[in-house]
Amino acid sequence: MSSNARFSPSPDRPLLDVDEARERILAHFSPLSPRRLPLLEALGLVLAEPIRARESVPPFTNAAMDGYAVRAADTSQASHAHPATLRVIGEAPAGGATPRWREGVIHPCLQPGTAVRIMTGAVLPPGADAVVRFEETDEAFEATPDRGRDVVRVFRPVRPGENVRPAGEDIPAGSLVLSPGTVLGPAHLGILAALGYTWVLVHPRPEVAILATGDEVVPPDRPLEPGRIRNSNSYVLAALVTQVGGIPRLIGIASDQDTDLEGRFRAARGADLVLTSGGVSQGDYDRVKEFLRTRGRFEIWQVRIKPGKPMAFGFIDDVPVLALPGNPVASVVAFLQFARPAILRLLGRADLAPIRVRAVLTQHVDNSGRRRHFVRARVERRGDRLFVTPVPNQGAGVLSGLVSGNCLAVIPEDWPEAPAGSEIEVELYDPNVLQELLA
Ligand code: AMP
Ligand code: MG
Repeated sequence: MSSNARFSPSPDRPLLDVDEARERILAHFSPLSPRRLPLLEALGLVLAEPIRARESVPPFTNAAMDGYAVRAADTSQASHAHPATLRVIGEAPAGGATPRWREGVIHPCLQPGTAVRIMTGAVLPPGADAVVRFEETDEAFEATPDRGRDVVRVFRPVRPGENVRPAGEDIPAGSLVLSPGTVLGPAHLGILAALGYTWVLVHPRPEVAILATGDEVVPPDRPLEPGRIRNSNSYVLAALVTQVGGIPRLIGIASDQDTDLEGRFRAARGADLVLTSGGVSQGDYDRVKEFLRTRGRFEIWQVRIKPGKPMAFGFIDDVPVLALPGNPVASVVAFLQFARPAILRLLGRADLAPIRVRAVLTQHVDNSGRRRHFVRARVERRGDRLFVTPVPNQGAGVLSGLVSGNCLAVIPEDWPEAPAGSEIEVELYDPNVLQELLA
């Protein structure tokens, strides 16, 4: 039996449920082969090599504050009434290997009773073991600091090591700093830069070709003739691809003729994934499904999901094709359930699921079709509980329902209805919403 026959529509074939369909789709995706990229291009990508520290960070013991490098023991009795008076024997600005010693200094090392004026980040001079901040010396009382002064009076004892950053305090040389699988954020890039890495091995961004289909669909910059609508799906899908971390490539609008589909798919060559919208339901001109079946490999058709049931997954010339529904909201829901995790897997991400919270449903929702129902809704916090309210217009074509909502409320497939007051799962795709709920 060919796989085409197995997945051909038949009245007694039970629909695949959402989790099973997702598993079967994801089985065809693995992280893209690692590529070495310049540091700033790696933001948000997944590290594909272990990073070891070739040097310590910081590379040398240095001052954590502006002040005076001292021997802590010299300050042990210091107070406002009886300050410790130390002879200033040099200045240590950041960037020099050694202090600028004052004239006449014979031993380039702090002897008892001496101090070096030091700036944050400068190498701690030999013999010193602590830094007294300017604020704790008589310099604090001067309108303009006297950089040439010969003595400094210290008003407070410092502990050994106080205001000093030891070499390797942040990262000791030789240590494993970052493991493969780490999602690189700004601070990770900072660590890599501090260690001298300017290129880094990561799983690159997948390229996702996006094809709209339908004889009625025209580009958004065209005037509308009767019977036509503008292509919104390609733009929503491209934006979603970008948000997830892929690189979208719009490859236009295919008419409902097979010959054109063939040409369009040639433009998708080299892509890691193709998303189509429209042409996968039961209509006379739903050719994407037929094209996948006859020209490529057909793995999945129709899922027990609402909205979004008419979707398919297969291959054309070994490029995976996720054929999403034409209805704008249905295509978004199907993208979030199936394309989003596939793109994350290509990126090498382990966390494929969206943020989920539980909330109390404020209104009855029908689910007589017994599909997993993703209800466009608004979740909000009242006191210490979360409540979720469906947006008024749940039409599969009504994009404004997604705009007024901030989440998808999930009604399980085995619930024929969800009564008001039931606690259900809510999926958040915008981290700002979680922030609002936590605020
Ligand atoms: P289909 O699945 O091709 O029957 O399309 C279902 C519905 O979605 C129809 O009303 C189409 O006009 C609409 N539709 C299809 N493609 C797009 C698109 N690219 N942008 C906006 N609406 C679309
Ligand atoms: Mg169509």
